[in-house]
Formats: sequence, structure tokens, C-alpha cells
Amino acid sequence: MLEKIARPDEIRRWPGDMPVRHRYTPGVGGDAFFTALHERGVVLGSHCAACGTTYVPARRFCERDFSELSADTEVGPAGQLVSFTIVFAGIEGEPLDRPDVLGAVRLDGADAVLIHRVLEPGEEPLEIGERLEVVVRPEGERTGSILDIEGFRRTD
Ligand SMILES: [Zn+2]
Repeated sequence: MLEKIARPDEIRRWPGDMPVRHRYTPGVGGDAFFTALHERGVVLGSHCAACGTTYVPARRFCERDFSELSADTEVGPAGQLVSFTIVFAGIEGEPLDRPDVLGAVRLDGADAVLIHRVLEPGEEPLEIGERLEVVVRPEGERTGSILDIEGFRRTD
């Protein structure tokens, strides 16, 4: 394992299955984030009064100064595109019927970015700094997952 792989096609693979099951808990802040998204259709963050940073999703502690935080700040639903990529292959390398566009958006009131699909970006190229907004699934279709957010769309 000390060899350096310079080209991705040189990576050796052994096909097979690993019967692994796991459960990941979102934690106190993540639970508040998903509950707010599920029940109210809003994006919830945590503001640190000590350093002024607003995290998204909500979290329990500030990673800069270890202040205790609460899930107390609604952000968005609009924000600014800070980065994006276009994905042509699925997670197993299979070609996608239609490329996916993923955007990193700093929602209004937040310092962190949220990454999600950009819905129907259209023919006009995306530009860093343009305004996008969160599209949340209608009440009754939400399940308390990150997919309660359908994605971002351009604001008009
Ligand atoms: Zn802080």
C-alpha cells in the first residue's frame, strides 16, 4: 500500500459484497435540522454569538471556539452560488441519462454552504455568485431526510 497511484485506471479492484449495516444518527443539531425541514419546510442553522458564525445544518458546538450552540437560526431560502460541478457518471461509474448539476450555496444568513442538486439549470450557464433558492417538497411528501429538499433553483 505504499505505491502511489497516479492514474485512476491503475487502481486495483476486487469485486465482491460486504454485508455491512450501519446506522448514523444526526445528533442533536442534525435532529433539529431535519425536524424543522420535515415539519416546517425551513432550513435551520446555529448561530454562534461568540464568533458570529452561522452553521448549516444546525449543530451543537462551534468548531472555532467550542461554544455551545442551539438550533436557533432559520437561513435562506435563497442564497448565493459559491461553486458547482456537473456530474456525468453515477456512483458506480455508470453514465447518467442526463447530467446532474450539484451546487454549493451559501444561504442568506449562513456562513456555511449547503450542497444539493441544481434543478433544471436550463441552457444559460451557471455563474458563481448568482442567486439560487431552496426548493422544499410539499408538506405531506417530506420524510425528514435531506431529500425533503428537492434542490436549488434559480431565482427570477
Ligand atoms: Zn463560535
